[in-house]
Amino acid sequence: MNRQDYLRRVVRLWLGLPQGAITPDLPESLASLLIRDEERLNPHRDAWGCWEYAFSDNHHRGALLVPEIDQWVQAQRRQGFGGEPLWPNGHRFTLTISHDVDDLSRHITAKQWARQAAIRMRGDVKSVIAALPVSLWQTRSIRPTPSLADSLEKALSIEAEFKISASWFFTVWPIDRSSPYDCIYALGDPCRFRGHPTTVAALMRTVASEGHDVGLHGSYGSAVHDGALAAEKHILEMALGKPIVSTRQHWLHWRVDKTPRLQANAGLKVDGTLGFNGSAGFRAGTSLPYPLWDDEHGQPLDILEVPLAVMDVGLFRLGAMGLDLALAKRVVDQITARVATAGGALSLLIHPSHLVDPKVEALMRWTISHCIEQGAWIANHAQIRRHWDERAARLGDKGESFSAVRS
Ligand SMILES: [Zn+2]
Repeated sequence: MNRQDYLRRVVRLWLGLPQGAITPDLPESLASLLIRDEERLNPHRDAWGCWEYAFSDNHHRGALLVPEIDQWVQAQRRQGFGGEPLWPNGHRFTLTISHDVDDLSRHITAKQWARQAAIRMRGDVKSVIAALPVSLWQTRSIRPTPSLADSLEKALSIEAEFKISASWFFTVWPIDRSSPYDCIYALGDPCRFRGHPTTVAALMRTVASEGHDVGLHGSYGSAVHDGALAAEKHILEMALGKPIVSTRQHWLHWRVDKTPRLQANAGLKVDGTLGFNGSAGFRAGTSLPYPLWDDEHGQPLDILEVPLAVMDVGLFRLGAMGLDLALAKRVVDQITARVATAGGALSLLIHPSHLVDPKVEALMRWTISHCIEQGAWIANHAQIRRHWDERAARLGDKGESFSAVRS
């Protein structure tokens, strides 16, 4: 399958047209945005090896917060190219909520503190010295069984209140090439959940048993090292007791020429990484799900991207957008209106440990009720992938042209 056929197929599936139907061609500027040519051609990255909004063409054109591709797709529907609606049961757009479990709680165990010290020692001398005061300060946070009441429990209870489910991304330890940026909990670590002592693995199984999608939060290095994602996925699946389909790379560390292929080879089916640490926005010009493209091998991959538009860190952190609650709501409202009008999928990432901050909790609650009022389908990443596959099959799409490849 060449690039043009791939793009036609993606557009045909977005529009809900049957196999073989005449399909409009995505304009080249939007095609280039979608398959991330700028990330392929420009080697520039931030201090953590990530592509940031400030490097992006749509940012320079003042279109970072505009789902330009979704708007083009909607215009094609209006011109008579519309087939089966993208979303089920008359919903005009989708809200998908996810949680990267980077930290379990504000408190850490002594073992976790030791792991953190060990991975920080692997940084350069400057970063080890810079991390010293933080490490000393964190010794005051050591608890034998840290409570999850203000973090994961809170996210779960908000979701139970709204009767919705989310995607929850967990990391595994030990990992082969841990970096100073990696997470420090292990699946066997103790914690206190709903008033009882338990382990991370048991709590993860509870999250899955309550209807949530449990996925892999791939370690920082797994974005570029062959086989790391497959190994981490295997460990997580053993602990969970069932297969994992969803993933997001920790630190949003994602390399266009490597990571999607590694994810597909690991058997992962849906990725939610394509967003920014420093801002809300549409990294690939779209909120729509789409299968990722392997430009090197000239083929689509069996991994569906659900682009990340909004995360707590991007909105609130000083040095990112640095907004207060009112300004954050204004940005999310603007993005939601654009996504809803164009029939896309708004992806919101909330880190459970950030829910201790009242403005993060308020934003999460507000976004959910606002999207429900606006007619959103609320689905986790695994549900979006299942829906995509079932709909593609109804449209006569030939699934076998998506493949995982060996590099
Ligand atoms: Zn993370």
